[in-house]
Amino acid sequence: MYHELSEPAGRSSTVETIKSDLVVVGGGVAGVCCAISAARAGVKVTLVQDRPVLGGNASSEVRLWVLGATSHMGNNNRWSREGGIIGELLLENLFRNKEGNALIFDTILLEKVVEEKNITLLLNTSIHATNKNAENNISSVEGFCSQNSKFYNLLGSYFCDASGDGIVAFQAGAEFRMGAEAKNEFSEKMAPEEPEKELLGHSIYFYSKDAGKPVKYVAPSFASIDGMTEDRMKRIRSQDVGPRLWWLEYGGNSETIDESEEIKWQLWKVVYGIWDYIKNSGNFENVDNLTLEWVGTIPGKRESRRFVGHSFITQQDIVEQRNVDDAVSYGGWAIDHHPGDGVYSDKPPCRQYHSKGVYQIPLGAFISKDIDNLFFAGRIISSSHIAFGSTRVMATCGHGGHAVGEAVAYCLHHNCSTADLLQASHITQLQQNLNEKGHFIPNVPLRPEFNLASKANISASSQLLLSELPCDGPWRPLVISTGQWLPLSQNTAYHFTVTVRAAKSTTLCAQLRHSEKVTNYTPEVILEQQHYQLDAGEHRLDIKFTETLAEDQYALLCFLANPDIEIACTTRRVSSLVSVFNGVNKAVSNNGKQTVDGDKGVDEFEFWTPERRPGGHNIALSITPSLDCFNLSNLTNGYTRPYQRSNVWCADTEHKEAELTLQWQQPQRVNKVILHFDADFDHALESSLYGHPEDRVPFCVERFEVLDDKGNVVYEKHDNHQAVVECRFSAPITTDALRIKLWQAHKDCPIAIYEIIVK
Ligand SMILES: Cc1cc2nc3c(=O)[nH]c(=O)nc-3n(C[C@H](O)[C@H](O)[C@H](O)COP(=O)(O)OP(=O)(O)OC[C@H]3O[C@@H](n4cnc5c(N)ncnc54)[C@H](O)[C@@H]3O)c2cc1C
Repeated sequence: MYHELSEPAGRSSTVETIKSDLVVVGGGVAGVCCAISAARAGVKVTLVQDRPVLGGNASSEVRLWVLGATSHMGNNNRWSREGGIIGELLLENLFRNKEGNALIFDTILLEKVVEEKNITLLLNTSIHATNKNAENNISSVEGFCSQNSKFYNLLGSYFCDASGDGIVAFQAGAEFRMGAEAKNEFSEKMAPEEPEKELLGHSIYFYSKDAGKPVKYVAPSFASIDGMTEDRMKRIRSQDVGPRLWWLEYGGNSETIDESEEIKWQLWKVVYGIWDYIKNSGNFENVDNLTLEWVGTIPGKRESRRFVGHSFITQQDIVEQRNVDDAVSYGGWAIDHHPGDGVYSDKPPCRQYHSKGVYQIPLGAFISKDIDNLFFAGRIISSSHIAFGSTRVMATCGHGGHAVGEAVAYCLHHNCSTADLLQASHITQLQQNLNEKGHFIPNVPLRPEFNLASKANISASSQLLLSELPCDGPWRPLVISTGQWLPLSQNTAYHFTVTVRAAKSTTLCAQLRHSEKVTNYTPEVILEQQHYQLDAGEHRLDIKFTETLAEDQYALLCFLANPDIEIACTTRRVSSLVSVFNGVNKAVSNNGKQTVDGDKGVDEFEFWTPERRPGGHNIALSITPSLDCFNLSNLTNGYTRPYQRSNVWCADTEHKEAELTLQWQQPQRVNKVILHFDADFDHALESSLYGHPEDRVPFCVERFEVLDDKGNVVYEKHDNHQAVVECRFSAPITTDALRIKLWQAHKDCPIAIYEIIVK
């Protein structure tokens, strides 16, 4: 029994003080990736999330799918899926949850966070106050947990604001912007003539299911679709659920922070109104058995404050793919803006302008220019409203969050300030720390001086020399132009043989194209083209190009659309090769070609995009000279995915077992070996709803062993489905050789490794 007499002076709730190196506020994808990366780098982290689960807009409370530079595979950014922690989370989600159940994604985030001993996780805890001990230094933040009625006083050396609305940065007094800058401020041609208040709005989704018997629906009295425009009414489809309802948007012309609750009520009104319309208007067939399964109770928030850092990203940085010295992340989603009135607007619900390739994001965009110990992560990073249209997607936010966590670790371990960190000597090491873990920063390779493997003599049981992709796959009608990206060598004239069949006498046009920028995959340059007059029937076609590339780079062997012709494909899948199609993907404003009305400062170009497996077969062809781009030097060339070149070592296609040997002249003290496998960075891995045909990437080595010079197995792994495996030993080993035995389960793919790092 517990009995307390009255306390005339009132009572105080419990206050718990937690001291850590880093306090991360906001457990969306950005905050989660930041906390995990910092914790793994030895930083004591407190992660505070005001909701009962992690994931923010990707959580089961909002249910958006995580997107990034691959843009649903609807743009020209080949092999651009984000690596590092967000990559690991999405590959784990693919393995456990290829159907895209948002509840399971929650558990993956929760598991990955609670497995980190350096993280103290506070759920249901909302930060409401920020304290400073100097004008430019935060000392603590204060939170309240509604579940245990506790107040928290969270002291930290560094703070990362990943809260979406930027509560900490705002309270600390950091400079911020909200709304659209005028065109002349940063010379952004997509920007309005005058500054505008309009923002992207909030959204709430619903899920429905078939109850197996008729279910009635009586809408609440507040439900209404009055005022919705005709365009939005036409978008209502009875089977659409979750993120497919992204256009159910409102609030961009309101105060998206202060009036968030009012916006939510308006969205509930619309959501229940739409469901009433679907069930009861008589305009939809087969809806009697449908029932609402879930409706969001908090809105997904798109846009509010953007805080100003040491760098500021603008439209030109994205479109021109400008390189920066302090690159720690990258983006590749289109510049994607929506009208503020959402469902009540007569403008299209979104307009996306893509770039020709990915762009770097500088560390300076994640560090407050005003508060020395404050980092930003997620949608609040330092960018213009226009650039925010691209940086805001969650895989990009997670990738940036990972960089912030690693940056904090660097500051702590090297006793350097955030301003010092921006100096070249520190940036190089930080980039190295990130890339070793498979993070991937475009145009920033790993450096050989940090890798013992680059000093070893490496040999292999076999090495792929690709002269043929056999004709054992389906025929592909050339209803749309079809191509094959191939990593070709400079100054080399190639000769290809393909098999085609014509329904009637017709002409086939074959082209060899490449991208102006050697690291892009937008094939705007036609190097050479040839026409072939075909009679009806099957033909083996010899295509001899005489023009050559000035540099090693990917080239597109393509065949222009001709519905009377089919081309033979292969079942063979080879790391770093991909077929692409000049098709249409309206979901990401891809109509085959990007066209621009007026001068918006973006490019017009064709989209050549891959198909998802089990489709997307490579074109069957023979290649002369053979592709000699899968060799051992790639294992230490600093690239962990295709980038201008294939960058991969592959064993002979016939071998389902392979062995690599690293031999040094002197014994080496080895702490760990990091292996970078092929997790197909070209394939988008949407976290929810989308569904994927396989639970692991077929190119990825499933089983391997590492052996020392005496033949002892010092590390082994079965059932691998991750791109990066860090093999740590119980104690450092001294050896003059390492052998790596590899097994590949997938019959169509050769064994492949991008990079071996020995430390
Ligand atoms: C409807 C909609 C559709 C979108 N479509 C996509 C899409 O398809 N794919 C995609 O990748 N992106 C999409 N976006 C963009 C993307 O969801 C956001 O830009 C992204 O979630 C931002 O990530 P974040 O981690 O910064 O913020 P959030 O995901 O919002 O996470 C921030 C977290 O911080 C928590 N928080 C806030 N305040 C506090 C506080 N005071 N104390 C503690 N915790 C706090 C919040 O509850 C939240 O969980 C969409 C956005 C919306 C709204």
